[in-house]
Amino acid sequence: MVDDTDLQHLSRCVELAAEALAEGDEPFGSVLVAGDGTVLGEDRNRVAGGDRTRHPEFALARLAAANLALADRAAATVYTSGEHCPMCAAAHGWVGLGRIVYASSSAQLAAWLAELDVPAPPVRALPVTEIVPGAVVEGPVPPLAEQVRELQRRYHRPS
Ligand SMILES: [Zn+2]
Repeated sequence: MVDDTDLQHLSRCVELAAEALAEGDEPFGSVLVAGDGTVLGEDRNRVAGGDRTRHPEFALARLAAANLALADRAAATVYTSGEHCPMCAAAHGWVGLGRIVYASSSAQLAAWLAELDVPAPPVRALPVTEIVPGAVVEGPVPPLAEQVRELQRRYHRPS
């Protein structure tokens, strides 16, 4: 299922999420990896400027669409600190990317935000497979999910 290579890429996603937090963006990060293991791209959330569609999974889906043949997209894996939102899941599905591995799930995020009394976002949190029925999805990964939880706490409750 989730092996050491997967954990390395997921750890990088959490690092990117921490970088986003340090820049005032929401703490999310993602990495796109080719079927042969080559890292093709990475990005982090960039919504602080006012465009709330600047999610890393969306950026990587468009990077894949611009640069990869269909077969290469299907062979690629998207690692992400938090499960895709519906917008990003749809982009993933339309572009035809492959496996998704996430550190923390949308259900976990929703529960954490509720605990922090954060108002519900304008877009509902749904499992990726509700949006892309054929998606191959793995996660959450508990130790890393706890790190993501702490980043969310720091974003919403800076001390
Ligand atoms: Zn998203």
